[in-house]
Amino acid sequence: MAELLDKVYDPHRIETKWYEYWEKQGLFRARADGQKPPYCIVIPPPNITGSLHMGHALNNTLQDVLIRWKRMQGFDALWMPGTDHAGIATQNVVERRLAQEGLDRHQLGRKAFIARVWQWKQESGGTIINQLKRLGCSCDWSRERFTMDEGLSRAVREVFVCLYEEGLIYKGDYIINWCPRCQTALADLEVEHEPVDGYLYYIKYPLVGREGSLTVATTRPETLLGDTAVAINPEDPRYQAYQGSSVRLPILGRPIPLIIDPHVDPEFGTGALKVTPAHDFNDFDIAQRHNLPAVKALDENGVMTEAAGKYHGQDRFVCRENILKDLKKEGLLEKVESYSHAVGHCYRCRTVVEPMISKQWFVAVRTLAEPAIVAVQEGRIQLIPEAWDRSFFDWMTNIRDWCISRQIWWGHRIPAWTCQECGQVIVAREDPSACPNCGGGDLEQETDVLDTWFSSALWPFSTLGWPEDTPELRLFYPTSVLVTAFDILFFWVARMMMMGLHMMRDVPFREVYIHALVRDPEGQKMSKSKGNIIDPLELMDKYGTDAFRFSLAAFAAMGRDIRLSEERILGYRNFVNKVWNASRFTLMNLEDYDPAREDEAPLSVVESWILSRLQQVEAEAGRHLETYAFDQAAHVLYQFTWHEFCDWYLEIIKPKLGHGPSPEERHHTQKVLVEVLSAILRLLHPFMPFITEEIWHKLPGAQGSIMVAPYPQPDPALENPAAEAEMGLVMESIVAIRNMRAEMNVAPSATVSILAFSQDPRLLEMLGTHQQSVRLLARVQDLEFQPEGPPPAAAAKSVVMYSSDGSLDLVMPLTGLIDYREEARRLNREMDKLSRELAQAQKKLANEDFLSKAPAEVVQRERERHQALSEKLSKLKSHEKRLRGLLA
Ligand SMILES: [Zn+2]
Ligand SMILES: [Zn+2]
Repeated sequence: MAELLDKVYDPHRIETKWYEYWEKQGLFRARADGQKPPYCIVIPPPNITGSLHMGHALNNTLQDVLIRWKRMQGFDALWMPGTDHAGIATQNVVERRLAQEGLDRHQLGRKAFIARVWQWKQESGGTIINQLKRLGCSCDWSRERFTMDEGLSRAVREVFVCLYEEGLIYKGDYIINWCPRCQTALADLEVEHEPVDGYLYYIKYPLVGREGSLTVATTRPETLLGDTAVAINPEDPRYQAYQGSSVRLPILGRPIPLIIDPHVDPEFGTGALKVTPAHDFNDFDIAQRHNLPAVKALDENGVMTEAAGKYHGQDRFVCRENILKDLKKEGLLEKVESYSHAVGHCYRCRTVVEPMISKQWFVAVRTLAEPAIVAVQEGRIQLIPEAWDRSFFDWMTNIRDWCISRQIWWGHRIPAWTCQECGQVIVAREDPSACPNCGGGDLEQETDVLDTWFSSALWPFSTLGWPEDTPELRLFYPTSVLVTAFDILFFWVARMMMMGLHMMRDVPFREVYIHALVRDPEGQKMSKSKGNIIDPLELMDKYGTDAFRFSLAAFAAMGRDIRLSEERILGYRNFVNKVWNASRFTLMNLEDYDPAREDEAPLSVVESWILSRLQQVEAEAGRHLETYAFDQAAHVLYQFTWHEFCDWYLEIIKPKLGHGPSPEERHHTQKVLVEVLSAILRLLHPFMPFITEEIWHKLPGAQGSIMVAPYPQPDPALENPAAEAEMGLVMESIVAIRNMRAEMNVAPSATVSILAFSQDPRLLEMLGTHQQSVRLLARVQDLEFQPEGPPPAAAAKSVVMYSSDGSLDLVMPLTGLIDYREEARRLNREMDKLSRELAQAQKKLANEDFLSKAPAEVVQRERERHQALSEKLSKLKSHEKRLRGLLA
């Protein structure tokens, strides 16, 4: 006997219950025993400092939909979870904590500071994992990893040493982005360029051995102290006469050469470019080409060095003011112009970044990039949508060497030691105790740590146990798909491809599904400063997790950003309620149902129709999920469940569930109903896991968890176009009668008579077999069928098409049904009221003041109202005209 559902659906009561059940039953666990085909997704590891935002919510909902779907299809589905140590981000969090205690990390020392970070991770690092559980994520938590755990640290070490031994990791002079506040090198992608209103200073460099000077323009005058040349374009006619000359550096007096380089832009400033190799990316490249020395005028704190002469020890911005004063005094500052230009800022702390030459560790990425480019070209990795291919190829072909050292403490310390006696550099898998060159024991380890993205680049194989040869690695690598937003395509996805192809000799994943961003209802990016952040946890509290997840999936159209509005989530909450109520109704009608009882009865037309439609829906939903069209899969399921199953099928079979029919007929009806509802629940499960599990457990005959119930597969033998056409005729007839009733304003409680005419007797017969449904659902008392004949004078009429080859006329006599005169008066009153409202709306829309001052949405709403009013009015007018015809 079926157990009933609560009258009102309460998401919170069931969500915790089922999540605990799934975990206890070990249903998230992948077996990795090779018995089933593998399907694997590695989670983009959230930062341990993270807390669930809308981007995570979308990203993880989509992964969970895929993994639950594949698990139900019989795959050994592994969703590999874990977190990222998030180097700078985490160090900053802990440093802020220390600051509240009046401490900084230097006072603590490296070891104690790192211990503090681990302690912080212990206490607060699990927040995001619990939030993912709240979202229903079916990750295999028994395999949860952390980028700094023992195994992953070993993988990092192994890769570092391998690449170093192959000459793909090197230490070198390089111009890098440096944050003087965070005291660390920043990757190009970690620098945010923002327009700043600054100045362009025109500075005269006197010529050596002749009269006159060359003028250069710069936004950073203090860097002139590190200049080692002035460069001009060979085509620039202004400077032809000066070729081969030297100039004298203002203030310092150092002579520097005038060089010719075709990369100098003659349009910028005066066309003469000061070259500061140690503090500018372009100049660094020029210096490489011309073998110019680099002079470091600024140090790591943004303070002027000894090379800056009398400015030594001054802060870079103080020095700027002083140097400008001095230049003016010497008559070398020709002019100053206002100048708006892009300035690089640290993505963490907003400090102005200083390009700086320094000794850093690098990965020679070009060698690694090539196989990744080929893998995408050959389709061994597919980017979805494909539109991303172009930016991928652009980026990968212009890639610069990857600076992997960071001057912070929290992270994988670089496994390199320098012998203090002979200078030998040792990079090794095990910590060395003596120098292999001189045998000395005074070895100093590199203090830098690796870029956070270095360890996450290994994620698809390190989490599966590499460098050990584990069954998991053999079974699940390459993984099936990576689901990500585009903003980490280059930070992370491209680097996983390079590392996977190099270390594992195979792609890390076969497909990359790149989803859109979640924006606010106006299409703005969500940000703290705009105050438009929508908190996913609040939405789950308010609408339930299933409604929230279904909304996200339904919004996730390929390549289009999502405008998240609560109204739309509310709409999907209604859908979840609809599923609940329909299931509750079903269960209420199953009290005497025995799933084990034999049933030999043939399918009725209604049953053939719903089963036929169900096969199509199963096929479509599967096809959409295969192609990551989450929105379309959600749409198909929504339409079928709400409109075909709830609105039609349940309504039509209601009488057969009553006590009138024979026990056999009742049983047969129940059996098909259970079959259809069971399929709907399983189809919906990946999207709304909690409610479907709750209902599943009350469904007679259902066994175990819905999580591991088979995902419905379409059965072509159940497709039945004839039943669909026949039910099409019946449903359209009912709709037509309902429309006539509404148009003629027939009271909902009144029953009507209908005459059905057709030259095709088949159609009359068809409608005849379903007359019980027509009577019930359109409130029809008398239903008469006639091949043809004159319709009554006072009647409403509709035409219903059957497939493409026949039609049926439905006529509704009005005599005795409505009081024409009363109805005409009512119509006139309503038309008067509408006309007044319409006139008001018209006046408002003609008002220039309103149009220019009101917000665009308000004006738009008023326009829509005007449109709706005039449509309604014209409908009433035509109705009134028809009535007048009847009265005449
Ligand atoms: Zn910074
Ligand atoms: Zn040595």
